[in-house]
Amino acid sequence: VDLQIVSLTDLVEESIRSFKAGYKREVNVFVEQKMKVKTDPQKLKQLLYILLDNARKYSEDLIKVNIMTIKNRAVIEVVDRGIGIPVKEQSKVFDRFFRVDKVRTGKNGGFGLGLPLAKELADAIDAKICLSSVEGEGTTVQIWFKKGPSH
Ligand code: ATP
Repeated sequence: VDLQIVSLTDLVEESIRSFKAGYKREVNVFVEQKMKVKTDPQKLKQLLYILLDNARKYSEDLIKVNIMTIKNRAVIEVVDRGIGIPVKEQSKVFDRFFRVDKVRTGKNGGFGLGLPLAKELADAIDAKICLSSVEGEGTTVQIWFKKGPSH
């Protein structure tokens, strides 16, 4: 783990720039407050990329990324308005090789390894991942940093 003090806004914007270079998808960033956190930037970028990639695969319109503080913690969230995940499957999506529905999601050819890796990356940078989803409406995945933002 290579800890550095990084600006979340800059890191998120950089990740989205490289994501947009690969995929023609619209991504909106909303910054409630500019903030810095102590983290491993490479790992955080990789983690964000997994979440953006899932949002891309399982939705068709605008992807939103919000940077904010909740209960004095720095939080990044990736929000899509896509197919969502049924409640009974939500606890399994962090298991290796789990995919909600091979028919429904088959054309994207995933292996069910993205979210388990995202979880490992989050553990490595001492952050928590929190997924909430409504089937047919969309999915929100939050990354909660342990420490509050430094300015
Ligand atoms: P890959 O290994 O290429 O990342 P994957 O997307 O199938 O493939 P995960 O990222 O681990 O693997 O996700 C597991 C499953 O959770 C997916 O197959 C999909 O069914 C569901 N899922 C993940 N993110 C979303 C999302 N944003 N919207 C809807 N379903 C999702």
